[in-house]
Amino acid sequence: MATTTALPKDVRAKYEPVIGLEVHVQLLTASKIFCGCSNKFGDPPNTNVCPVCLGLPGALPVLNRKAVEFAVLASKSLGCRVNENSIFARKNYFYPDLPKGYQISQYDKPLAEFGTIEVSTEGGGQKKIGITRVHMEEDAGKSIHDGFVDSGSNTYLDLNRCGTPLIEIVSEPDMRSPDEAYEYLTKLKEIILFTGVSDCNMEEGSLRCDANVSVRPVGQKEFGTKAEVKNVNSFRFIREALEYEIERQIELIESGGKVVQETRLYNAHEGRTYGMRSKERAHDYRYFPEPDLLPLVVDEKWRKKIEATMPELPDARRERFVREFGVTPYDAAVLTASKNFADQFEEAAKAAKNPKRVANLVQSELQGRLKAKGLAIEHSPISMKGVAVSADLVEAGAISSKMLKELYDLSFERNKDFPVVYEEEGSPKQSTDTGALEKVIDELIAANPKQVEQYKAGKKTIIGFFVGQVMKASKGQASPAVVNELLTKKLEA
Ligand SMILES: [Zn+2]
Repeated sequence: MATTTALPKDVRAKYEPVIGLEVHVQLLTASKIFCGCSNKFGDPPNTNVCPVCLGLPGALPVLNRKAVEFAVLASKSLGCRVNENSIFARKNYFYPDLPKGYQISQYDKPLAEFGTIEVSTEGGGQKKIGITRVHMEEDAGKSIHDGFVDSGSNTYLDLNRCGTPLIEIVSEPDMRSPDEAYEYLTKLKEIILFTGVSDCNMEEGSLRCDANVSVRPVGQKEFGTKAEVKNVNSFRFIREALEYEIERQIELIESGGKVVQETRLYNAHEGRTYGMRSKERAHDYRYFPEPDLLPLVVDEKWRKKIEATMPELPDARRERFVREFGVTPYDAAVLTASKNFADQFEEAAKAAKNPKRVANLVQSELQGRLKAKGLAIEHSPISMKGVAVSADLVEAGAISSKMLKELYDLSFERNKDFPVVYEEEGSPKQSTDTGALEKVIDELIAANPKQVEQYKAGKKTIIGFFVGQVMKASKGQASPAVVNELLTKKLEA
């Protein structure tokens, strides 16, 4: 839903928004961060719990090595420096879904710092958004406020999520528009997905985002007072929430009011933010080092071992696709939409006789048909292997590009992969019967003396006219290479 305010453009232009984002990402480890309980999403409520994650007295946490490795990998993928020593700290607050009464997090000595994410700007340029820090922490449980008959009066608790390993990625306040924030989040999610440390599924809460936003008069150095927007569960809503919040703050200042520092919740149905009750605003977490855990040491040897498992990241892969397969940057972006898809494409392209032809077919034949059907490339009836098979057939001269187009159309009509349709159609072959072709060519040459004259006078491009006529006569079954060869021979004679 659109925002409810509508500021005059000139008023909006007097202010510059300043946006910083805090992103929580759940790590895909088999077990939780400080105990051996399963970290699987969607199990029956309160079945994956033990004394440690229930916060029972005397239970002690043991750090999950895999969680550290995933956190280091994510930090490096975001260009961060990983600190050899980091410290877990207790963040104290009371909430029903946090049975310990504190969350184990990291405070003044985080795992990693000083990263960047490069985003595209409206002007088509690139901009670096700083990442202040990446730290590790445990997730809290889940309070379920609706879905039960007595939800009006009761809240239910599912503590399965208690102790799920998280990383929090805190950006610098470097973003200047909701669009930049959207770009940053998209890029961040893409990078994390490529590393494989999280599924970044926002619906299941494995990627969550809070936004800090303030406005200041254009040209002013000091930041304005910020509000924190929480509870936003899609990138689109974050963009909308920021848009709303920026206008709200400008209106407030313009009418002589003051922005107060507070946490606000976004209501997606109404397209606006609401201030939380003041009681829930008070932050005094009384951080102190976690006495039950040793400092976390990631020495160079371990760090390098983790770094060695880093897959090729999306930007690098895109550049390589442009270089190796001669595709446009736009198509390289499509081909790397997900790691899985990029892997499929690359495997098929490399198995084909001419990898560039596979890329070309994806661009020229597949994309348009997908767009027309409104399908994402992952749901294409023609698989990447199918594209490779068709590319090889064209490469070998077995089918013409016209036949390929028709077979692609049939694949989309029947929702079947290319090799299946090719077989269903009786594995058609383009005609290489030179005898029949020669007859057609002789007739054409006899019927078009003027064009023959032009050819002989040096206008070699006129051959295109003859090729077109022969192809038409053969109903697209002839091989253009063979036709060309025969025509040249006859015209030169
Ligand atoms: Zn547990």
